[in-house]
Amino acid sequence: MMEQYVATKEKYKDCILFYRLGDFYEMFFDDAILASKELEITLTGKDCGMEERAPMCGIPFHAADTYINQLVKKGYKVAIGEQVEDPKLAKGLVKREVIRIVTPGTNLSSESLEESKNNYLMCISYVGKNYGISVTDLSTGVFKTCQIQQAEKVVDEINKFQPSEVLYQAGVEQVEEIHAVCERLQVSHTEAPDYYFNLETDEETLKRQFHINSIEGLGLKDSPACVASCGALMQYLHETQMSSLSHINHIETYSVDSFMILDSATRRNLELTETLRDKQKRGSLLWVLDKTKTAMGARKLREFVEQPLLYKDAIEKRLDAIEAINKELIVREELREYLNTIYDLERLLTRIALKTANPRDLLAFKTSIQYLPDIYNLLRELPCERINEIYEDYDSLEDLYDLLEQAIVEEPPVSIKEGGIFKQGYRDEIDELRLAKTECKTWLADLESKEREKTGIKGLKIKYNKVFDYYFEVTNSFKSLVPDYFIRKQTLVNAERFTTDELNTLSGKILGAEDKLYALEYDCYVELREKLAAALVRVQKMAGYIAELDALCSLAYVADKNNYVRPSLNTDGVIDIKGGRHPVVEKMLANDSFVENDTYLNNAESRISIITGPNMAGKSTYMRQTALITLMAQIGSFVPAESANIGLCDRIFTRVGASDDLASGQSTFMIEMNEVANILRNATKDSLLILDEIGRGTSTFDGLSIAWAVVEYIADPNILGAKTLFATHYHELTELEGKLSSVNNFCIAVQEEGDDIVFLRKIIKGGADQSYGIQVARLAGVPEPVLKRAREICNELIDSDITTKVKDIDIKPALSEQPKKKETRSSDYEQLSLFSSPVEMTIANELKTMDLNN
Ligand code: ADP
Repeated sequence: MMEQYVATKEKYKDCILFYRLGDFYEMFFDDAILASKELEITLTGKDCGMEERAPMCGIPFHAADTYINQLVKKGYKVAIGEQVEDPKLAKGLVKREVIRIVTPGTNLSSESLEESKNNYLMCISYVGKNYGISVTDLSTGVFKTCQIQQAEKVVDEINKFQPSEVLYQAGVEQVEEIHAVCERLQVSHTEAPDYYFNLETDEETLKRQFHINSIEGLGLKDSPACVASCGALMQYLHETQMSSLSHINHIETYSVDSFMILDSATRRNLELTETLRDKQKRGSLLWVLDKTKTAMGARKLREFVEQPLLYKDAIEKRLDAIEAINKELIVREELREYLNTIYDLERLLTRIALKTANPRDLLAFKTSIQYLPDIYNLLRELPCERINEIYEDYDSLEDLYDLLEQAIVEEPPVSIKEGGIFKQGYRDEIDELRLAKTECKTWLADLESKEREKTGIKGLKIKYNKVFDYYFEVTNSFKSLVPDYFIRKQTLVNAERFTTDELNTLSGKILGAEDKLYALEYDCYVELREKLAAALVRVQKMAGYIAELDALCSLAYVADKNNYVRPSLNTDGVIDIKGGRHPVVEKMLANDSFVENDTYLNNAESRISIITGPNMAGKSTYMRQTALITLMAQIGSFVPAESANIGLCDRIFTRVGASDDLASGQSTFMIEMNEVANILRNATKDSLLILDEIGRGTSTFDGLSIAWAVVEYIADPNILGAKTLFATHYHELTELEGKLSSVNNFCIAVQEEGDDIVFLRKIIKGGADQSYGIQVARLAGVPEPVLKRAREICNELIDSDITTKVKDIDIKPALSEQPKKKETRSSDYEQLSLFSSPVEMTIANELKTMDLNN
């Protein structure tokens, strides 16, 4: 047996091999040492024909799922080595084979899958300077691909899909970036073997999987990178799943240009699907928007949130649908009631296709399609383009419902090997065998009473167990009455068990009928499951529609309950929000105490808002609310505002106070500058930038200088010219309003009441004159002596205020914008008083003569 083990393990070196031994899965040698540590189970040993015992540990097979999930979650691959013949029938050693390899991206255990989240596996190929990205969710059959030319966008796709496993081709240029993002998101990532990326093999694999003659049929003819990536992914799935995967029957090609790009920092900072601090869904945008009724709808809505759209038509289509749904509130609520009855059709389908669905799954399937005709009727009452399209292409699946309704009993067993699955009348043969079984049982009862009378044993009973089949049981007090023809089978403490020839014959008949019945029900079940599998494509399509309807209904419901309005969309770059609210913060505050605020940004004189105001005033909330309203509009959702006109943005960037990322060994300031660099390099004039306290992580002069230069850079339409909200504690930056025509100052109003301040939460024109840091410190409970001393120091510092010097800094002459108020004086450069020592001046002068832009 150990030889068999070693030979099997040889083939699956990169996996932990679970080797089935009776009721256990055992691990040996290094696997055992590793698994015992990771799973905290006892390490033992086994003789293996060598001097030393082989390290060994094991887990009971019925608990395997839990242990496999633990290992896979930690990034290991687990190969399941199963007994593939009946040990009772095997001659010599039982044959064993690896039947499946479980990896993070291919784990189908319902314990590990999150209902409202796809479990994506991604593959990245690199062919002729193009990247091919493919992603699949094995649990639902989704399979998507896209080709990317710009290397840096590869990482965005990882951020977007947040896969649990990434495979990549050797030699991809972006390998370091891929590693970095995978490490940060804790995604398992491996270099796939070269043979996965052989284009010929890939084409063949895809043709076989998707039953087509040429790769053109998949729309991948001109994208060899996609062929390589999809082919490689498919090969990996076959190698790990070792089954047909018929539920993967369609490749969706998409373009990165259809969706807003959001980098991981922005996704985190805007708390789209989880909160920054404790990674909970509660407190995120998704938490507010997700009132879906089905798991499929929840996944679809998450996809909406993670992939905001870029094109007006596509967005308006969703907005129209929401409007139509909310015009008919009764219809909406009826629709949601029906949706509530639908289980996870996509994952049920996968189990049907993979032949692992049990009778209860089929019952859930039946329940799920029961109300499809009713939903169909409701759709007619919601006239709008998208719902019409769904209506036109709708399939109520009534034939499948009827089939299941006739077949499966109301409370079916989990097992498919012990009968009891089918209803009376589904198959004559099943009914006949059942009748025979019942008849035999009556004969048994007759025999029991006949023998009881004959022998005079009062409590004589016929009983059954798996080891002895049917037997008579006689308690010790009646032992003397047992007749000769009773044959003893077993002696217990207070009773004995017997059989008779007649009982044996009868028992044989019953068991024979039972065996036949079970075998027949099993065959019928497999046949039924195959019939459903044949309707896979039809059901998948409907599952997709249900998911979409559910997501739209959820957005409609939330819009209605939270008083959202339909945004208008423009392509002129104007963002005009009246009475805007933060969708999440307003939910957290009691009784409507959220203070509404307006936002106005455009591509000309209102490109940049510098926002000042004390800590806790509400600057971050205000900026995030603008970003979130813009993002929600591009999801196709209504928005929390009195009115909103949103200029479509290609990207939203945020730079919000980062916390020290100790794990990656980077300081706060380094992270901050990394993020700033990323923004300045990748933003366009159509982007929306949210910059919170840039330059905070270093000394005041450095920080202020960097912040100043960043604003100059962004403001210049010839360089960047992106719409920006810029919050800062450097009041000196408000000086820019006079110098750059696109910059405007805003502050969040506070009211002084003696030594205290009251936050008014209202954004108003103009810069804040004070930081009120000491007042805020007081609110936080800093002891009075410290506050007093701080006030003294502050007063001294104010006397040597740098603002007077900053007033004299002038705008970089190369910038194209003309000053609004003040003339540019080249002599102002001589007065750059932040660098005023003679040596620095010399260097500064020398630098000035150089053409640094080139
Ligand atoms: P800052 O960025 O200025 O330090 P925050 O935006 O973090 O301030 O706001 C601090 C707190 O003030 C928030 O957690 C929220 O509870 C409250 N707040 C902010 N904006 C508003 C508002 N418009 N209406 C009501 N409360 C608000």
